[in-house]
This record gives sequence, structure tokens and C-alpha cells, in this order.
Amino acid sequence: MRFLTLALTLGIASSSILAATPTAAESVNLYSSRKEALMRPLLDAFTEKTGAEVRIVAASGGQLIQRMIAEGEYSPADVLLTVDAGNLWRAADAGMLQSVDSKYLLSVVPSDYRDPGNQWFGLSLRARAVVYATDRVSSDSIATDLGGYIGLAAPVWEGRVAVRSSGNIYNQSLIAAVIANFGAERAEQWVRGVVGNLARPPSGGDRDQIRAVAAGEADVAIVNSYYYALMLGSEESNSIGNTAIYFPTDDQMGTHVNVSGAGVARYAPHPELALAFIEFLASPEAQSLYAEINNEFPVHPDVQPSGEVAKWESFTPDDVPVVEFGKLNADAVRTADRAGWK
Ligand code: FE
Repeated sequence: MRFLTLALTLGIASSSILAATPTAAESVNLYSSRKEALMRPLLDAFTEKTGAEVRIVAASGGQLIQRMIAEGEYSPADVLLTVDAGNLWRAADAGMLQSVDSKYLLSVVPSDYRDPGNQWFGLSLRARAVVYATDRVSSDSIATDLGGYIGLAAPVWEGRVAVRSSGNIYNQSLIAAVIANFGAERAEQWVRGVVGNLARPPSGGDRDQIRAVAAGEADVAIVNSYYYALMLGSEESNSIGNTAIYFPTDDQMGTHVNVSGAGVARYAPHPELALAFIEFLASPEAQSLYAEINNEFPVHPDVQPSGEVAKWESFTPDDVPVVEFGKLNADAVRTADRAGWK
């Protein structure tokens, strides 16, 4: 198996070389918060390349981490794949991942998008953006009327903001990023301001916030970019025709970018194959497919986004490393509670 890892690492994974590798009987167990139907094309591509099957256990990130803790050293998990650096950080913090030695992952995954201890690596990127109503908010002036996330707390947005519950980790990571950029005190003031500006009590998921803007219940919604791309590419595109996406940025904080990512499980029965699988997911071939399937931005700097995502304007990502979202998660949750973000 060492050879397989090395071949992928060096980018010389031609099928003729790998066909000679005796991996056909092996399989890798993937604990995934992404649904099997979405992952299937990638899993099949890996099997075609290596002969190794991928068996998937699908559940939420939190459930998978709890399951790994309960299974302990008898866990069949080889790879944990989940969304949000906050979840990946929790898995590592609970001792459920292991540090890996991969020159390939270090060379293609930018340092801001992975664990400094090499226990997990970002594989795709999503911005927590703003979707706004173009008939009530001008495309020409949103950069000045709103600016960055801090702008969402300004009085001009009173009764106009839609966002889901703070129990959701996407919002916890956003609050953590605001704490990292502006300090705890200003971040709490900000959350109070946003709560005061809500058009309605938080309910539903990110897509429901976009629907609220389209329906005139709110003028701006805080949502992950891929949900908007997904809706634009679906039969819902007509009903959200009066909306556009904006990537909040100001002098102090760039656009909040989070990851989906993976790590090798602490007690992985097949650690070398597990690493080969993660390296495969970071390869240009898999990166195109992965980003396309999920409507996300590739993490590999040489791979271009596709579909609706490719049509969007570029933006400046915030420079706080995503590992901070995990470290500051408890502070973020307490801040949201104190400020009354349900
Ligand atoms: Fe999501």
C-alpha cells in the first residue's frame, strides 16, 4: 500500500501502475456526512483507479463523531469526511483522528484550510455569503450600504435580515471568525445588532432564508454559497429570479470561507488506503468532480470552479485560518446565547 500512496503523491498514478497494485480485496470505510448519492461518482472513480472499494456510512458530522467515540479502538472507520472546520476540529479534539505525513496534501491544500497538526484537510470551499433582493437592494450600492458582515448590524437593515438558528455550526463558525477579526466585545455587539435586525425568528435551513428573500419577507439572507448555486441550477431558479449573491468584505475582514474536509480515523484499520483516498479527493481529477457535485469552490489552487459558481465575481477570502473556528466555537456559542440569537 505504501506504493499506492506514493504514486498518488507524486501525481504519477497512471492506471497501468496501479493495476499492478494488489488492492482488489481491500476496502476503505468512509464515515461521511455527505450523502452516498453525492459521493458515488467520486467513490467509483477511486475504485476504478485503485481496485479498492469504498464502503460508506452516512450520518451527520456530530453523529459520526459520537459513533467513533463509542466504537473506540474497534471502530471500522478509516476516513471521516464532513463539513465545516468546526466539526473537523471537534473530531480531532476528541482524539478521533490521526496526524498523517503527506507531502501531496501539504502541497495542494493551502495552510489556512487544514489542521496545523495534519489531522484533517479541507477538500472544498464555501463562502458564507449574502443573498439579497435586487428589487429592494441595489447591486450598485450593496458594497457601500452593507460592506462587510459588521454592516448587517447597522440600523439601515432593521427588520430586513434572514438567517437560520445559531445552533447551526455554519453560524457558530461565522461568529468565531467575527471574534477573531474584531475581538469578543465587538463581536457580541454585532450579534446583538444582527438579532435586532432580523425580519423573523430564525427557522429552517439556508435555502429557506433565500426563499424568504425571494418572497419579500426579508431583504438580505446570510447563507452558504453552494445552496444558492444549487437553487440557481434547479427548477427553483425562476422563483428566486429577483435575487443576487454578494460576498461581504470590509477593510478588516474578508469573506468568511469554510471547508468540507476529511481526516484519517485514529483507529483506522486501513490507514494507508485511507490516506490514499484523501489524497485522491485532493487530486485535480477528483477536485473538479467534487466541487461540481457540491457547487463548491475547489481547494486545489489550479482547479477552476464550474457551473453557476464560475459566473460569480471573485472575492477576498478572510485570512483567519479555519482551525480558529474550532478553537473559538465555545466562545461563539456563548456569545450567541448571551445576545439572544435563538
Ligand atoms: Fe450545508
